[in-house]
Amino acid sequence: MKYPQEQLDAIYDKTSGKCHICGKKLVRSNYGVLGARGCWEVEHSVAVAKGGTDSMNNLLAACISCNRSKGESTSRTARARNGRSRAPYSAAKVSKIKTGHAVSGAAIAGLATLFFAPELFLVAAIAGAVVGYEIDVD
Ligand SMILES: [Zn+2]
Repeated sequence: MKYPQEQLDAIYDKTSGKCHICGKKLVRSNYGVLGARGCWEVEHSVAVAKGGTDSMNNLLAACISCNRSKGESTSRTARARNGRSRAPYSAAKVSKIKTGHAVSGAAIAGLATLFFAPELFLVAAIAGAVVGYEIDVD
């Protein structure tokens, strides 16, 4: 798969130029240059063989060695081998993901309450937002 430079930049920036598996700093210009310092590839967080897609949500930067040793195992498993639990997303990205969780948490809890107990709507929406915000970023 060949990615346009613009997309490669966006993928690289998602993790502030770090491998999402081991956290090592990658060198932007060494994309696909096997053996070069900080060489990296686009990694499918969910392997294509496991139904992963080419959408931006599923693409992360990884060292060529991490990418190739990961195979079809999950990101969680591959990161665990490196003693890590999550992608090294930038703070801005984490906050964006968490806000997304909060909004969906509020929407889900709010809608459920609206249906079953309209007088508790606001309370439930706030609780849902808090729960959503606390969800770990994968
Ligand atoms: Zn790595």
